[in-house]
Amino acid sequence: MDVMRTGKELGTEAVTITGGGEPLMHPEINEILDGIDSLGIEMGLVANGTLFHKVQTRSLKKLIWCRISSSDELKTQLGRIGLSLSEWFDEIEDAVTRAKNVDWAFSHVVTKTRPNFDLIAKIVKFANTYNFTHVRLVNNIFIADMLEKARTMDKIKEKLEKRKIDDSKVNYQKRDKWTKGTKKCYIALLKPVLGADGYWYPCCGTQYALAKPSYDYEPSMRLTDKKLSDGLRDIIENQKVFDGSMCVKCYYSKYNEALKIMLSEVKHLKFV
Ligand code: SF4
Repeated sequence: MDVMRTGKELGTEAVTITGGGEPLMHPEINEILDGIDSLGIEMGLVANGTLFHKVQTRSLKKLIWCRISSSDELKTQLGRIGLSLSEWFDEIEDAVTRAKNVDWAFSHVVTKTRPNFDLIAKIVKFANTYNFTHVRLVNNIFIADMLEKARTMDKIKEKLEKRKIDDSKVNYQKRDKWTKGTKKCYIALLKPVLGADGYWYPCCGTQYALAKPSYDYEPSMRLTDKKLSDGLRDIIENQKVFDGSMCVKCYYSKYNEALKIMLSEVKHLKFV
């Protein structure tokens, strides 16, 4: 909340609450959602769909959007915490019914060349039934090339069409294209990422931006040595633009190009 209050003071308008870890495991998640909302900061949430029962309806309704993440390993993962797939869908159905004002979406990571098609079909049908905004199907970034070589995403699309499942909400993200990082990375300044370790990072692709990808954020990419509120203040007050020339894999260069254009001074503006 201290970070949020500092953010508000510095002009923060919206925040995405996401992992390391499942955000809804936090024992004070309702107080966090209520507290951020009371500051007039809009919220989006990424959650794994297993713990919505912990969130009071009053707090859940304060979200603008919520994205539920899953993967081809979902059944095994749910098994580890004693949940079945149908219980997972029931939990989501209950949350969606309680908070109809929220824009709901799924993000499903494809992890195998022979993906869990039945699960994907169920997710897409559920999203269609409950009027979700979209279903993001995304290749596991660590094996995206291999998955693409096997035409995995195309095969999923073909199978959905063959089963006559409406895929108009599905956003197929192959992740087989990237660029080198941009020297002036404005994204880091526009929406810096607060890691679970309290340090600030330039983008949510920080784990896999360098030659050696990892599941953790990369310490050499920290935006500042300062943590939490002091760190945010340092970034914003000193307008720290990150030097992204160290990044070998960047999926956001188009965002940076757009931001660069928006920041450039236009001569003879009145004639544009
Ligand atoms: S990967 Fe791209 S968006 Fe992320 S820090 Fe590097 S240059 Fe910036």
